[in-house]
Amino acid sequence: MSSEKSISLSHGIVRQDRKLSDGRTISYYDSKSIVREAVDSRPVENRPGLGELRLDALTNEWVVMAAHRQTRAFLPPKELCPLCPTKPGLQSEIPESSYEVAVFENLSPSLAIAASNWKLPELDGLNTPVVDAAGFCEVLCYTDDHEANFGTLSLEQIRIVMEAWRDRTREISKLPHIAHIFPFENRGVEVGVTLHHPHGQIYAYSYLPPRVEKMLKVAGDHFAKNSRPLISDIIAREIKDEVRIVAQNSDWIAYVPFASRYPFEIHIAPKVFTADLAELSDAQADSFGTVAKEALQRLDGVFGIEMAYMASWHQAPVNVGRDVLGLHMQITSIRRAPGKLKYLAGSESAMQAFIMDMKPEQSAAQLRDVKI
Ligand SMILES: [Zn+2]
Repeated sequence: MSSEKSISLSHGIVRQDRKLSDGRTISYYDSKSIVREAVDSRPVENRPGLGELRLDALTNEWVVMAAHRQTRAFLPPKELCPLCPTKPGLQSEIPESSYEVAVFENLSPSLAIAASNWKLPELDGLNTPVVDAAGFCEVLCYTDDHEANFGTLSLEQIRIVMEAWRDRTREISKLPHIAHIFPFENRGVEVGVTLHHPHGQIYAYSYLPPRVEKMLKVAGDHFAKNSRPLISDIIAREIKDEVRIVAQNSDWIAYVPFASRYPFEIHIAPKVFTADLAELSDAQADSFGTVAKEALQRLDGVFGIEMAYMASWHQAPVNVGRDVLGLHMQITSIRRAPGKLKYLAGSESAMQAFIMDMKPEQSAAQLRDVKI
């Protein structure tokens, strides 16, 4: 087949797009030009239909109904891992026999491309219509090594993942109906992981998620009053206070936020305001890995066990707020101590009022004390 696209990105990284048997695209990101021509020979199965967007009239917030996801793979054994490369006896989602970084559309997506005339309804309380859950969901495999994890990847490998995040942000922005792009990783069964293979996901929403909407309003008000992005002032306070810093280099800073909500919460932000992953300079993209690795190794070092965490990229929405909402990664762990988890109980779940059992300064000191 000669119709595949090969695209040169920064840092010498090359992307090649191929088709899976059911028509989904798989993109390989490689550190150099590598021939990617393995064919997906799995039989074509019907793909699930679209879910629904319903309005919660109590809060005017959208909820995605994706009941079709109930049948998705749940913690398969390693020999049946759908994210490992294809090998004799295993036809996985990735037809190649090895890969560096691979990205493909989720087999059972919560959000998927809708009809071209799709529109997000105006909010009208109980009369708001139910619509297809428009959007896009991708799986991003960090490495073909089933036993690896993000924090122990080589800096070169993290650089390829970073390039994939930047490129996906650019590419998904061009799809119809996309309002916000959210790359994230859940690690550990404690936070609902269904596949152990090191991977992240990208959810692209057709509406602004509630927290983005709130952060956009707050950041917009701050900018109107101070003519500076809020995240820049937050970083300035962290640099001045020093006590909550966990790691830094010339481009990035990792810190426990001033009002953290989880026993171990780390934010990693570029020191210079940047709207989203696509807008990072090549130098910022190159230097992210050292700070990210250090932050994650400190997190795992606190109790000497692999910490269950959620790593979430906050970026500016696709079409609004790009000069006020700045890029940063939020890593939160629900682990309080070995054998103890923080549950989102009544106050947090029902009131969204968080109670922290530990001061952020104490958490930062524990993270800094880890020998790495
Ligand atoms: Zn695997």
